[in-house]
This record gives sequence, structure tokens and C-alpha cells, in this order.
Amino acid sequence: GIRPNVELAQKAGIELGVTGAIKVDNGMQTNIKDIYACGDCAESYSLVTGRAVYRPLGSTANKMGRIAGDRVTGGDLEFRGVLGTGIFKIFDKTVAQTGLTEREALQEGYEISVCHNIKPDKPEYFHGEEMLIKAVADRKSGRLLGVQIIGKSGVDKRIDVFATAITFEARVQDLFHLDLAYAPPFSTTKDPVIYTGMILTNDIERGRPLMSARELEEKLRNNDDITVIDARVAKQYEKSHIEGAVNLPHESLRESIDDLDREKLTVTYCNKGVTGNAAQNILINKGFRKVYNLSGGHKNYLKMRKS
Ligand SMILES: Cc1cc2nc3c(=O)[nH]c(=O)nc-3n(C[C@H](O)[C@H](O)[C@H](O)COP(=O)(O)OP(=O)(O)OC[C@H]3O[C@@H](n4cnc5c(N)ncnc54)[C@H](O)[C@@H]3O)c2cc1C
Repeated sequence: GIRPNVELAQKAGIELGVTGAIKVDNGMQTNIKDIYACGDCAESYSLVTGRAVYRPLGSTANKMGRIAGDRVTGGDLEFRGVLGTGIFKIFDKTVAQTGLTEREALQEGYEISVCHNIKPDKPEYFHGEEMLIKAVADRKSGRLLGVQIIGKSGVDKRIDVFATAITFEARVQDLFHLDLAYAPPFSTTKDPVIYTGMILTNDIERGRPLMSARELEEKLRNNDDITVIDARVAKQYEKSHIEGAVNLPHESLRESIDDLDREKLTVTYCNKGVTGNAAQNILINKGFRKVYNLSGGHKNYLKMRKS
């Protein structure tokens, strides 16, 4: 980890915040008049929760420096907090995050919806590369709280769209309506950002709930009374499937419906989530009461097992 270098400030009687970094007001002024602090030694606060956070980043240091400079020369620029947006490259993968993680959102007391959205950044014929987007939203307000992405390309562009959306307090329902740039060399017709909004909206207010891989694993371990439907073709099921799942491929699912218990907790899945959602739709339309789609499908389930 990283610790703020605050020795000099402490000796000068400057107050530290709860994070151990120098406490500043919105104009970067410390508790001592005309003494300003900015960058890695200064505390900032979360744009989502309003709570003090310590996120020492060059992007933030730069803003803080400008604000402090503006203030000491008579300006009124104000620091507006951070999402802690960060990005790094590890070999051929890009990893990025913004806003709250699932754990942070739970610690803050939010009732959350979480999705794992696996989508290519471009169409296949333009050599699109899959990325995994994990997004966290507040169930009550629909507000997007945080996003993490890992993938080979196109991650930087998506995380910045999400950071912008969270900054302006977008709800997941708003993401679908974003007029994002599309042409095949750059994106898919429905951008992964838009899909993320659709998946979370389906979960929060359109009666198409998601179940995380971890939740399903727990239910299976506890031997809960549950039907798990693998909606992929038989060949994929035979290759690998979730233990205890029955193979009812999406295209023939309607024919098997009468053999299933409509009252029983049911989880559908496919490889990544889209066909699982289609199977979920069929079951709900046929009167099944408690049908969940496995978030991120079999692919994400395997990743969870591996980790
Ligand atoms: C390896 C690495 C990679 C990073 N990559 C990224 C990235 O990709 N993106 C990102 O946003 N951030 C990144 N950061 C963080 C970013 O570099 C810092 O947040 C940023 O430089 C902080 O700026 P600053 O001006 O507060 O401090 P610094 O850049 O550390 O500058 C402080 C200066 O004060 C000097 N100094 C210290 N004590 C005294 C003293 N008593 N008297 C006089 N001078 C003193 C130091 O020598 C230093 O030059 C990275 C950091 C590291 C270490």
C-alpha cells in the first residue's frame, strides 16, 4: 500500500483526516489559514458516499494542484471529490475500476444489484476482444455505484463512460439511452456499457433477477431445493456444466416446461448470460415464479470456482 508523507505537516500542527492524510476543505486549505495541501499527502472524499477517502493518484493530484493554485491567486475553484478511477495494464490485459466495489457498497449499507457482463469490445469480424464488466448499483434508487472491467481492448473507453455516468449520478436505466458512438471498427451496435445498463435494469425493475455465481454455489452447497437449467446445446453441456444442472437447450425449452416445477426456485444459464436470460424470459412468461439468470453465465461461474 501507500502511505501519505505527512511528517512535515504534523510537525507544523496541521490536522490529519481519518485516513491519515492531511485534512483539507474544498479549496484544498488545511486547518491552518493560508496553508494548502494537495496531491498524495492530502485526503479527498468519495463522490458517491461523501466520505473521506485516500486515493493517491496523479490524475487527482493534478486537479488538486490546480484548485490550490487557483485559490491562492484569488479564484473559487472547488474540489468535487473522486471516484478513485484507476487503470493499469498487465501483459496484454487492461484492468480498470471506478466508484464503489461490491464490498464497499455493502459496507456502506446499500442494497445492491451486481452484474457480470461479458461482451466483445467490437464485432467478431473486426477482431473484437471480450471484456468482463462487473457493475454494482443501488437497488432502491437505481443509481450506478461502481464498475470494474478487465479485458484486452476497449476497457479504457468504457471505464471513462462509466466514470462520467457515475459522476453525474446516472441510474442504470439511463445507460441504455446514452447515444454512444458506433461503427464496427470501434464498438458493437449496443455498446457493452448499454448492455450493462440493460442487465441491471432487468434485475432491478423488470422482474428478471440475476443470481451471482457465488450465491448459486452457496445454494448448491447447502443442497437447497433448486432447479438449475443449462440452456446451451447438448455438446457444450457435455463438455462442462454446473453439477446438478439439467440440460434443456433454449430452442427446445418450451417442450420440456410441463416436466418442471413452476413453484421451485429455478436458475437458468448459458455461456455468458444472454441465452440464459432468453430461457429465463420463457419460463417467466409460462408462469414460473422464481427464475434467476446466472450472472455472467457458465464462463463467470468457472472463473469464480477457479478463484
Ligand atoms: C510507480 C508509480 C506509478 C504510478 N502510476 C500512476 C498512474 O498511472 N496514474 C496515476 O494517476 N497515478 C499514478 N501514480 C501516482 C502518481 O504518481 C502520484 O499520485 C502523483 O505523482 C502525486 O503527485 P504529488 O505532487 O502529490 O507528489 P509527488 O509526485 O510524489 O511529488 C512530491 C515531490 O516532493 C518532493 N519532496 C518530498 N519531501 C520534500 C521536502 N521535505 N522538501 C522538498 N521536496 C520534497 C519529492 O521529492 C517529490 O518530487 C503512480 C505512482 C507510482 C509510484
